[in-house]
Amino acid sequence: MIIATALGVGAAAGIGASARWNWWRPTVKNGIPTLMYHKIGNYPKGSQLQKLWVTAEDFRRQMDYLKSHGYTTLRFQDLADIEDGKMPCPAKPVLVTFDDGYANNYELAYPILKDLGLKGNIFLVYETIESHNSWHNPKTEPWIRMLRWSEIEEMARSGVMEFGSHTMRHRVLPEIAPDEARWEISESKKRLEEKLGRPMVGFAYPYGAGAYVPAVRELARAAGYRYDFGIKQGISPWPWKAESGPLKRLLIRGDDFMFDFHLNLTRGKARF
Ligand SMILES: [Zn+2]
Repeated sequence: MIIATALGVGAAAGIGASARWNWWRPTVKNGIPTLMYHKIGNYPKGSQLQKLWVTAEDFRRQMDYLKSHGYTTLRFQDLADIEDGKMPCPAKPVLVTFDDGYANNYELAYPILKDLGLKGNIFLVYETIESHNSWHNPKTEPWIRMLRWSEIEEMARSGVMEFGSHTMRHRVLPEIAPDEARWEISESKKRLEEKLGRPMVGFAYPYGAGAYVPAVRELARAAGYRYDFGIKQGISPWPWKAESGPLKRLLIRGDDFMFDFHLNLTRGKARF
């Protein structure tokens, strides 16, 4: 009886492990994995979005992995240059992206990327710059500091970070009037370009909402963004065709193991 129980537990653990990870999935070839981060650091008390916080230690471990496994980190403009034949495509390309534009991206992620000689991309919410994450209910996700212009400009100058738009106010695009959605998408591009003096090549839909709603996506395409990113888990094939839908990404969670990171990069998915 004791043996049977022990076996039962062992078998259950084995099934649990294979159900938790999909290492058996074939390796994805000819795609550019795009990592999606939000906040770097320890989650604050009261956060109900703990999984969106990746500690600086984990982030460094993950960036070390990219470096030691021969990955080349790209900025949005590099992607465009590769597509236009101005730059060769590296053997193992990867995009590191951050949504929302938190100050902790400057305080914790930027020094690590700079130190390792890697590059990243941050999607900014225009009206929250120099302010706080006002779209969150502070009862479930504490308000924290967003990037300042001086920090954004420093990171842009360094060549370590490129910036993209994540709208004006982080609203749910398919739920607002088309004119407002157009303003969220186009006005942020215009103002960020004026301020940073370079084209906004990348766009990310807040909450991923609208990425697969044709009327909303059309607004992003018409605004002139070359690459639009959703939150669907996976690796889009490269070369990418806009008609095939927004670029997929790989959500890096705070409770991920390095094995998840490895599976995400190579299989386009770590969990079911
Ligand atoms: Zn967001």
